[in-house]
Amino acid sequence: MEIYLSPPHLTGEELTLLAQTLQKGWIAPAGDNLTLFEEKIKQYIGKKYALAVNSGTSAMHLAVKALGISKNDFVLCQSLTFVASLNPILYEQAIPVLIDSEPETWNLSPKYLEQAIEYCLKAGKKPKAIVVVHLYGRPAMMKEITEIATFFGIPIIEDAAESLGAGYREKKVGNFGELAFFSFNGNKIITTSAGGMLVSNEEKYISKAQFWATQAKDPAPHYQHSEVGYNYRMSNVLAALGLAQMDVLEQRIAQKRHIFEQYQKALAHIPYIHFPQAIPYIQETHWLTRILFDTPAQAQKALQTLHAHRIEARPLWKPMHLQPLYQNCMYFGESIAQHLFERGLCLPSGTQLTNQQINQICEIITKR
Ligand SMILES: *Cc1c(COP(=O)(O)O)cnc(C)c1O
Repeated sequence: MEIYLSPPHLTGEELTLLAQTLQKGWIAPAGDNLTLFEEKIKQYIGKKYALAVNSGTSAMHLAVKALGISKNDFVLCQSLTFVASLNPILYEQAIPVLIDSEPETWNLSPKYLEQAIEYCLKAGKKPKAIVVVHLYGRPAMMKEITEIATFFGIPIIEDAAESLGAGYREKKVGNFGELAFFSFNGNKIITTSAGGMLVSNEEKYISKAQFWATQAKDPAPHYQHSEVGYNYRMSNVLAALGLAQMDVLEQRIAQKRHIFEQYQKALAHIPYIHFPQAIPYIQETHWLTRILFDTPAQAQKALQTLHAHRIEARPLWKPMHLQPLYQNCMYFGESIAQHLFERGLCLPSGTQLTNQQINQICEIITKR
């Protein structure tokens, strides 16, 4: 590949912070970088507690455990997402109930969420959680979703892996759920090469998550365990990368928005290509620029042509109710998620992309 979808973008400060960390000898798991990184995230989002872990997936697993989700519990989740939003539900042998997207934000549909809850209640089991995903840097319809969640008394887990820094009615994502998490995987808006962060305003969730994330050691002078634990903590070395990256987060968001606008300008005259419509009350980051074609064939052709030019593009996430692993789950909705999947494309959105490269990509897509 010559142009990647969303490659890591280092600041140069990482090396300085890494060198300091190594010089001090703080390469053991815990240390100052971790605490500082957690502090920075807490301040940025406006949350009381944060726990840095080794991936977004681990953070999601800890959120599932913190809410006491266990065997045969129903957990509601949007179908159009990356598989890591759901797998931790299976780790705990709970039952995912899948929900369609709404056409505006492409995220969890409030209408079908309500239907799914009614169904679960009729089946005699109140769902244990609602997993809302803010895909591609665009927040879900949190007002409607929060109202439903509050009415039925069901906690929300926000999967904000793709949306660090995005806002909904001037409030940053991560502020709408009992628990929320971010990812610092290599392709995300800022990266620690691999990593994640769990946040909450409830001390009890984060201290329990920390306990599980560090092998569930009981307070005792020897190694004693009464619960299953995990080795999920972020390394202090990688937290150094997070510190450097946090300093450029706003800059990266501005760059992602600029990239989206450039694509929009360059493709404005193409009648069969559509961009997600602007929503006035959200502040999206455009982690990846997404376009929709009129037909699946057009999307496939554009994808193939880009790959032939060694340019990486990807279809949107394939909905979970269409995945072999999840196809037997209950699904509430119509075919909005499927429609998006079949016609959508994620375009290269790396923050080092030049205007010239963007124009080149647009020419390739629209070549007849
Ligand atoms: C990246 C991602 C995750 C998982 O994060 P990792 O750090 O890669 O484990 C979860 N959910 C969504 C929507 C993601 O994009």
